[in-house]
Amino acid sequence: MTIAYLGLGANLGDARQTLKDAVVCLAQQHTITVLAKSSLYRTAPIDSSGDDYFNCVVKLETSLPARALLRLCHHIEIQFGRERPYRNAPRTLDLDILLYGASSIDEADLVVPHPRMTERAFVLVPLVELEPDLILPQRGRADAFIAGVADQRIEKVATCQCMTGAQTQTPQSTAPNKTDCR
Ligand code: ADP
Ligand code: MG
Repeated sequence: MTIAYLGLGANLGDARQTLKDAVVCLAQQHTITVLAKSSLYRTAPIDSSGDDYFNCVVKLETSLPARALLRLCHHIEIQFGRERPYRNAPRTLDLDILLYGASSIDEADLVVPHPRMTERAFVLVPLVELEPDLILPQRGRADAFIAGVADQRIEKVATCQCMTGAQTQTPQSTAPNKTDCR
């Protein structure tokens, strides 16, 4: 079994819902156990175009070798309607292998750790949320790279506030809390 981290991104269609569905899809694989999922983030396109992206990072345990995990990622991307009309095109779903155990892989179609992960706030911020003390193979602490991407727009998407809202509401307040319970 290997611990791996996947970066998920989408900016076509109902991107937010797609990410949630994609996490469910990953969890349904008998070769994968989803251990944790970061918050959902809304981010500016980087090296890409179109609408804002939604991003998150998933930590999983898998019996799959790295290459088979990549194949599965591509398969799931296709299930969610992924097309590649041109490089960095807007996408219904992007699944990238950020880390695969402590492995360093440098092959034509698979590079791990993901080569651009330390340059992207949409990867670093959710990854460090999940693992504040994460050490990247041969690169040191993941959180040390966050200062270098501080100019990239990223905001955490509010999630379900049902319980916290009930605790913080004043007796006078009858306005419904802004919630998203999808
Ligand atoms: P992007 O780089 O924007 O994620 P794609 O999703 O179209 O672009 O991926 C292009 C290629 O990147 C894939 O066909 C895949 O073989 C290759 N690739 C190399 N390393 C990785 C990785 N760590 N995770 C996912 N894809 C990778
Ligand atoms: Mg990709």
